[in-house]
Amino acid sequence: MDFNLSAQSEHWRDRLQSFFDREVLPRHRAWLEHAAVKREPAPFMGELQEKARAAGLWNLGLPELAPDEPGTRLSNLEYAPLAEIMGRLFWAPEVFNCQAPDVPNMIALQNCATPEQKQCWLRPLLEARTRSAFGMTEPDVASSDATNIATTMVRDGDDYIVNGRKWFITGAAHPRCSFLIVLGVTNSEAGRTRRHSCLIVPMDAPGVRLVRPLRWMGCEDHVAPIGELAFDNVRVSRSNLLGEEGDGFKVAQVRLGPARIHHCMRSIGLCELLIELMMVRSAERSAFGRAVIQYDTVQRWIAESRVELEQARLLSYRCAWRLDQAGHHGAWRDVSVIKVAVPAMLQRIADRAMQVFGAMGGSDDTPIHQALAWGRLLRIGDGPDEVHLRQIFRMETMPPWSIADSPYLAAHPS
Ligand SMILES: Cc1cc2nc3c(=O)[nH]c(=O)nc-3n(C[C@H](O)[C@H](O)[C@H](O)COP(=O)(O)OP(=O)(O)OC[C@H]3O[C@@H](n4cnc5c(N)ncnc54)[C@H](O)[C@@H]3O)c2cc1C
Repeated sequence: MDFNLSAQSEHWRDRLQSFFDREVLPRHRAWLEHAAVKREPAPFMGELQEKARAAGLWNLGLPELAPDEPGTRLSNLEYAPLAEIMGRLFWAPEVFNCQAPDVPNMIALQNCATPEQKQCWLRPLLEARTRSAFGMTEPDVASSDATNIATTMVRDGDDYIVNGRKWFITGAAHPRCSFLIVLGVTNSEAGRTRRHSCLIVPMDAPGVRLVRPLRWMGCEDHVAPIGELAFDNVRVSRSNLLGEEGDGFKVAQVRLGPARIHHCMRSIGLCELLIELMMVRSAERSAFGRAVIQYDTVQRWIAESRVELEQARLLSYRCAWRLDQAGHHGAWRDVSVIKVAVPAMLQRIADRAMQVFGAMGGSDDTPIHQALAWGRLLRIGDGPDEVHLRQIFRMETMPPWSIADSPYLAAHPS
């Protein structure tokens, strides 16, 4: 087993790192000023994206780009260390057109869209000319069980009429979001997993209404603002159906594997930054006559964070490798494993970092409270921990012995 990165991965990681250091990080304070303070898009994003694309650093999270589609062709494993670099700043992925939820949507469109749909919806996303969202979760049903989704899509001639409500839809409140992929019921008589379909719904279709923007734990998502949406008799052409009628879960699953693993890869990069922040802050600050970094507790927090991070990185690499080798069906268990492991780790490391920073750790002057909220969110979003743990448990096999005759236990006196 070779744990080295491939030459290709190292090459693109080094290129991305130097672009990040030269072009992205120096603009972080300006980005914060625009996005978080003035609440306006950063005016330099388009220019940065052009530079990134010219440098070949474009659509890095899409291993299956067609020959005529723009982007750097990297495997999931090659992408992993690059996603870590982007994960250090919440807004950095957008510079390289690698932001959620657009990338998972691009993957769904690559796999399930017709050539006409690709031209109309995928192409603009690949070129960062538009933004998108994915609408599954609903306020009125437990959406962690996707078979509960109740939004209706009723056939009417060559159209579907969509009625329902969706909430916590990442990106739906973005001013440039032009469409979303909506999961809804097309045939209530079909079996539980064949009742739903995915439909591409333009945001400007009459009857689509942004009910309100939403925040999560007091944080706003400035990259892909979250929204609650209402669909009141929205008429959408049947040609916007993704896949066949009844393929809703198939389409959703194609995008969910990459969506989950990309979040985990970025979170590992964020944890790396949190460790650096803990190191620097505790070295620079003194309490009760010595540097905070000299206290055993702080050293232990940093070392434990390193141990957890290295474990998570290996799991993430293996999961990416399996996704490359066996596709999302073959990687399903590994995706669930990292989806549980990484958010919990991010929460723990962010919590330690917050403690090390004292009051400042919860302020807008650091990214720590957002990292904590992000870790917390990932324990619910894209499937709560409990659902993944249940799946992992179900894949355990029962050993072929009973406790009474187990060769691993001492004989019980009769
Ligand atoms: C910031 C943010 C962004 C999001 N972005 C999107 C988006 O872009 N698109 C989208 O469609 N959704 C999005 N979501 C929604 C997210 O995917 C759902 O919240 C999640 O799937 C859970 O659904 P629910 O909220 O309806 O919880 P429920 O289904 O009501 O579940 C509540 C709780 O019940 C428990 N539970 C559920 N099932 C089991 C089980 N099998 N075993 C044990 N316990 C269980 C769990 O503790 C779970 O947390 C987002 C959420 C947040 C917070």
